[in-house]
Amino acid sequence: MATKLTTLAPRIGRFDTRVAAVPEKTVDPHYATPAHRAWRAAVIERSGGRCQDPTCRSPGRRGIRLFADHIHEIKDGGALLDPANGLARCGACHSRKTIAERAARMARPT
Ligand SMILES: [Zn+2]
Repeated sequence: MATKLTTLAPRIGRFDTRVAAVPEKTVDPHYATPAHRAWRAAVIERSGGRCQDPTCRSPGRRGIRLFADHIHEIKDGGALLDPANGLARCGACHSRKTIAERAARMARPT
């Protein structure tokens, strides 16, 4: 029967082989402000509990988590608190749109 010696430290230390350090995820403090919460509530309420994305694959579904999304993204100069710049999207639509916008942004020359 082998006995495991748990009190001895390993003789070889850990070595982080990652090429690039993963940046720590941070949340923009704007999302915690009452102004943002009011904007979000207005966008979600207006949706009637359904995804408003015109390309949604399940547009009539209710009882799902909705994301108040900036149609014209903040990073691209979209209006931060204008309800006209908000659309309630389901998780799938929000992810699809966000990824597409990010890809388009990264493809643009700086
Ligand atoms: Zn959707």
